[in-house]
Amino acid sequence: MARISLDHLRHAYTPGLAEAGIYALREVDHVFEDGGAYALLGPSGCGKTTLLNIMSGLLTPSEGHVRFDETDVTMLSPEARNIAQVFQFPVIYDTMTVAENLAFPLKNRRVPKDEIQRRVADMLGRLGMTQKGKRKARGLTADEKQKISLGRGLIRSDVAAILFDEPLTVIDPHMKWQLRSELKALHKEFAMTMVYVTHDQTEALTFADKVVVMYEGEVVQIGTPEELFERPQHTFVGYFIGSPGMNVLPCALESGEAVVSGQRLRLPAHFGPAGGQMAQGRRIELGIRPEFVSLVPRGEGLPVTIERVEDVGSEKIVRARLGDLPVSAIVKEDASLPAEADIAFAPHALNLYSDSRLVDTTPGAA
Ligand code: ATP
Repeated sequence: MARISLDHLRHAYTPGLAEAGIYALREVDHVFEDGGAYALLGPSGCGKTTLLNIMSGLLTPSEGHVRFDETDVTMLSPEARNIAQVFQFPVIYDTMTVAENLAFPLKNRRVPKDEIQRRVADMLGRLGMTQKGKRKARGLTADEKQKISLGRGLIRSDVAAILFDEPLTVIDPHMKWQLRSELKALHKEFAMTMVYVTHDQTEALTFADKVVVMYEGEVVQIGTPEELFERPQHTFVGYFIGSPGMNVLPCALESGEAVVSGQRLRLPAHFGPAGGQMAQGRRIELGIRPEFVSLVPRGEGLPVTIERVEDVGSEKIVRARLGDLPVSAIVKEDASLPAEADIAFAPHALNLYSDSRLVDTTPGAA
C-alpha cells in the first residue's frame, strides 16, 4: 500500500472552462496516509469523482501532481499505478461464474492456484455468497453483481490503494451496513489505503477514520467524525454534517455582544479578543448545533416563533424562527413545549465564523 500525496491539484474539463475560471477542482493539497481509511464526502458536483479519477489515473489533472510514496504518477495509467477501483455500478464478466470473477485479478498476477482458491473461498464467505460461487454472474441481481465488484477490488492485497466511488448505491439498504462493516474489517485486517467517495454522511462517518469534506471544488475540512461535529472549520461542514445541520446565524459584533436578527446576545468572554480582530466588511456568522439549543421560558433567552415540531422517536426537532432566521433545536422526546418560548445557546458550543471560516476563539488566539 502507498501514501498518496496530492500536490496543488487543479482541474478544468476544457481549456474554455479554465479560461472562464470554472474549475471542477480548485486547489487540492492533501496527503492520504499509508493504510488510512478515508471518505471523500460532499454534495453532488463538488468534485469528488474528479478527484478520485485523478488519483486512480483515469483523468490527468490540468495542474499539479499525484505521488505514490516518492514516485510521481501523474502521467501513469491506472494499471501502471496498481490501483483497484470499485465504481457505482457493477463491472464484472457476465459469462464467468462468481468464483471466476473473484479469481480473475489474482490469475492476472500469477498468484498460485491453491492460494487463489483459498482467497476466493474467504471472499465468498465475507460477501455472504458461499453458496453462489459456481453460479454464472449473468443470472445474479444488481445487488449481488455489485458485491462481486467489491470482492474483486478487495481480493487484491498487493495494490497501492483501493478507491471506491459510491459503491453501495445499488445495494439493498438492509445489506449496506453489513458490507460497510465488512469493508471496515478488511481495512483493519490488511491495513489497506482506502478512499471512499460518498455524498451520504452516515456512510462516510461509519466507514472512515478521517473524513475529507469537499465543497465547490475544494477540501474544506479533514477530520475525525468527532472533529467535524464539534469544530466545523467551515459553515458548510456544520450545515452538511448533522441532522439537522448546524444553525448558521448572520450577525454583527458590538462590544461583546452579537446582534442576531435585531436581538442582542451576550457572547462568551473568550470571544472578545477574536471579535476585536474581525476585519471590516467580512460576513460574520454564529454557528450552533441544534443539540446545544434549548427552549427556555419567555424573557430568559432570545424570543422565537415556533413553527413546527417533528417527532423523530427518541427526540423532537423544534423548527423555530428568530426574526427572519430559521433555527432548529433538538429536545428530549418528553420535553414540554410551551406555546411561547425563547431559545438559549450553550455558550461552550458557539462557533464564530468570518467569511464562512471558523475563527479561533480559544483564549490567547487573538
Ligand atoms: P456526484 O456526487 O454528482 O458524482 P461529484 O462530487 O463526484 O458529484 P464531479 O462528478 O467530480 O462531482 O463533478 C465536479 C464538477 O465537474 C461538476 O460541476 C460537474 O458538472 C463537472 N464535470 C464532471 N465531469 C465532467 C465532464 N466530463 N465534462 C465537463 N464537466 C464535468
